[in-house]
Amino acid sequence: MFAIGSHAELKSSIDSIGACIALFELDMEQTIRLISANRHYEEIGGMPVEEMIGGKLNEIFPRYLETQITEQIALCIENQLPSEDEFVIDREGQIRWWRIISSPVFSKLGRVKRIMNTCIEITEKKQLELSLESSHSRFEAVVATAYDGIVSIDEDRTIKLINQAGLDIFGYTRAELVGQLLEQLLPQRYRDKHQAYVATFAESPVHSRPMKSRAAVRGLRKDGSEFPVEVTISKIKVGPNLEMTAVVRDISERSRLIEELQKAAIEDGLTGIYNRRHLERIIRRELLRCERFGGDMALILFDIDRFKQINDSLGHEAGDLALQEITQLAQESIRDVDVFGRWGGDEFLVILPGTKAEDAATWADRLRRQIEGHPLEYNQQPIPLRCSFGVADNHKGLVSVDLFVSLADQALYQAKQAGRNMVCCHPGAETEVE
Ligand code: GH3
Ligand code: MG
Repeated sequence: MFAIGSHAELKSSIDSIGACIALFELDMEQTIRLISANRHYEEIGGMPVEEMIGGKLNEIFPRYLETQITEQIALCIENQLPSEDEFVIDREGQIRWWRIISSPVFSKLGRVKRIMNTCIEITEKKQLELSLESSHSRFEAVVATAYDGIVSIDEDRTIKLINQAGLDIFGYTRAELVGQLLEQLLPQRYRDKHQAYVATFAESPVHSRPMKSRAAVRGLRKDGSEFPVEVTISKIKVGPNLEMTAVVRDISERSRLIEELQKAAIEDGLTGIYNRRHLERIIRRELLRCERFGGDMALILFDIDRFKQINDSLGHEAGDLALQEITQLAQESIRDVDVFGRWGGDEFLVILPGTKAEDAATWADRLRRQIEGHPLEYNQQPIPLRCSFGVADNHKGLVSVDLFVSLADQALYQAKQAGRNMVCCHPGAETEVE
């Protein structure tokens, strides 16, 4: 036994021990009282040792620890074995963690008469543990709630981890994927190449890289469907092993929108044929080709006769129907090399590469007759369909798109002036069909 005020040498040597040590004794009423403690124990009791001597557990320990320490000591007495636990003491906002061990000290009769209480401070370790825990849970929360799929594989390409977004993207449950080869998520034709890719990436000094172009990387869902993905991969050493992590984004929706936008940029909304902007682009390209390699090229601009009357008498929907019907008739009769589109309003344009105005006019007249003879009704009302056509060709090495179209437009104007429902060629083309 050691006690304050006696055995000075022993006392000073016990005080020099880094841990807090105290001795408790069960008195006659079976109350546990402190009978001795070293100087460090003041850190537990928060008061000078002298004031603690003779004190009960509830007088030494903060109130919120009373139950915990009482139970620990009771357990130690009951089991006659050391009992230990972690305690947190908050003194004026200063938090310190302690590992407190209560060990039985036996009497000569073999009864537990006293309890040795040893306290080791573990604040630093605890803080490290807590910050590790919070960074782990932060990391886990980020991975779990990420919008992108996150898949980690080992060097053998076995899936080690996959987050919920990854499972949703590929349509699997976690149990179906963890432990399986990553190749399961790729279309068959990419698997060999991917295996080689992973091997070179593992060897490479680069730690992360985005995978090439958008549509080139494709994923395979459980239901067998493929979809475009955007992938960024990175690698880390986990102990002696290398792990690679891919962040996978399903870009089906984005690709679809891009396709839709690309289509909308060149298509006319009502008829689905090329719009004016795209037609101009093609005329320019064809003119350059003619200039470079020589050759003929014709344009036909045609316009519905008295179209306003159709709109006015039968309604705008009847007008739309007429536009769609004429689109179909013209589309059915153009050659593969010809390009057809809506110039705007009730005007259409046909680009005929390798064609002289004369042949273009013959074709135009055939279409004119076809349209004229095409029966069309809206709400049981006949829609009279007639068109006037203007034809021009790239005579005398013409290279301006605007000029070329204006020649066809002049010819169309002529057809309108001459009574409509006819084909006129620009004088430069020296051909007229009636
Ligand atoms: P013309 O024989 O001289 O060509 O007479 P027109 O009545 O056809 O006159 P114009 O070509 O100038 O009329 C074009 C009309 O086409 C005017 C406009 O209201 C109508 N229009 C333009 N775009 C559309 C469309 O998308 N749908 C419908 N229904 N009408 C349209
Ligand atoms: Mg018109």
